Amino acid sequence: MDNHKIADIFEEIADILDIVGDNPFRIRSYRNAARIIEDLSDDIFSIINEGGTLENIKGIGKGIEEKIEEIVKTGSCSLLKELHEKVPPEIRELLKIEGLGPKKVKLMYDKLGIDSIDKLESAASSGKLRNLEGMGEKTENKILKSLEYYRQGQGRFKLSDGFSICESLIKYLKNAKNLIKIEPAGSFRRRQETIGDLDLLAICSSETDIMEKFIKYDEVKEIIAHGDTKTSIKLTNGIQVDLRVLEPESFGAALHYFTGSKAHNIRVRSLAREKGLKVSEYGVFDSGDKKIGGKDEKDIFTNIGLSYIPPEIREDRGEIEASLNNKLPELIELKNIRGDLQIHTVETDGKNTVIEMAQKAKELGYEYISITNHSKAVKIAHGLDEKKLRKHFEEIDRLNSKKAPVHILKSVEVDILADGSLDLDDSVLKECDVVLASIHSYFNLPEKEMTQRIIKALSNPYVNILGHPTGRLILEREPYVFNLREVFKAALDYNVIMEINAYPDRLDLNDIHALQAKETGLKLAISTDAHSSSQMELMVYGVYTARRAWLEPEDVINTYTLKELKTFI
Ligand SMILES: [Zn+2]
Repeated sequence: MDNHKIADIFEEIADILDIVGDNPFRIRSYRNAARIIEDLSDDIFSIINEGGTLENIKGIGKGIEEKIEEIVKTGSCSLLKELHEKVPPEIRELLKIEGLGPKKVKLMYDKLGIDSIDKLESAASSGKLRNLEGMGEKTENKILKSLEYYRQGQGRFKLSDGFSICESLIKYLKNAKNLIKIEPAGSFRRRQETIGDLDLLAICSSETDIMEKFIKYDEVKEIIAHGDTKTSIKLTNGIQVDLRVLEPESFGAALHYFTGSKAHNIRVRSLAREKGLKVSEYGVFDSGDKKIGGKDEKDIFTNIGLSYIPPEIREDRGEIEASLNNKLPELIELKNIRGDLQIHTVETDGKNTVIEMAQKAKELGYEYISITNHSKAVKIAHGLDEKKLRKHFEEIDRLNSKKAPVHILKSVEVDILADGSLDLDDSVLKECDVVLASIHSYFNLPEKEMTQRIIKALSNPYVNILGHPTGRLILEREPYVFNLREVFKAALDYNVIMEINAYPDRLDLNDIHALQAKETGLKLAISTDAHSSSQMELMVYGVYTARRAWLEPEDVINTYTLKELKTFI
């Protein structure tokens, strides 16, 4: 158990309390606690087991602390068990359907006994939901659409989940006997935005107990296959993990083979055939079937006349041709990033102060950050009006004049209203260093209207960046319906930069759209949308997306120095 799991328990408690319509303050205290624990850098288990206290952690009250102690000491939480008796755990899954909040879920449970996704689907498709209070035919159709989207994504995991699963598992397997090397392959290694399963490849020097250890992992739900060279398990969260133990002479070939993609591998094999060679998961072989490479992954490429192709672009989207012609891009790297251009602070819905975010930026080796709090239309985030924003800027001026850890840009995430006008007066937008404009409401406008709305926002002379341009949430919410190409064209006319929002649930623009943006002639900005200092570390996910989009440092404006950035803006 770790902080993440305690946070999960509290999140689940909050969800269920929400469904039964409990006291909103109680619900909020569990939700807050979940967030605080998730962001905490100290390990709660060590604190409690060493007899420490959580008193000093803001937002963790006595009641919550007792629950944490119970979880640490007993491994479970009696309140959650109690709640499970009242509300089956499957009901919680209904909250994952876009458009279903706790109130609707409760209503559907009370009136129609809907306690699972299957029951929801049959009720919706047989027209039973429309008769519920406040629902109607339109809501019913929306739920059916969301269900379809949800089903498509089932069994898939966000890349960030892949990282946490991989990290714990590899850490656990590291002390297997005689293990020399263990590496993940597959879509995870290509940093695809979602992954279906995990592939781990290992080399061991001699007799090893790695497979025995693997099937005894804490989180194993099912052993699918168990052998000396290949074992497959399913974890409690539903993901399948395959572990292969390989001969050192074949490791590179296997790494290439199991990294894929399939389309890329097919091209590589046919290119090899053209040269009278054979490439397989075991190595590269000449016409006499003599092995001429395979220990290192680069053997595959060099033997067939290619330069090394980074895993992120192995999708048969032109990388083979580019490699043959020596035209592979110099892909952007995390170390190229000099600043973060979307950051929220305590002035609205962020957790840390401006100076705390600036300190974190310094730790990350940045030169600048752009503070982009919400504008007033986003009431739930306590968005700022013109007056409050100006006051906030005065504070930033003071910090900059007192030598803030990095340069702090005075910026805003201004809301794009339903008609495409902006939520703040031009006179204050004009005073901003960077204006980021985003949509946070009216997601369901007709395509034409939505396209016009965004283009109108871009035409404002003070807008610099379009934030999370498509509004999608991975595995949760589809992009809004609009014409992206037209928006890109308009962005080019109005000199607006496209964001790659690095927040792992968003990755918006995605890889394909980011590449289209580049091909249109646009620049991009990779931003974390951090609401706490620890979330500034999520930058790497945006960089993965950018790499998959073939972006080079010069395509991304936050690789520029402060001076270059200011000139460009
Ligand atoms: Zn936003």
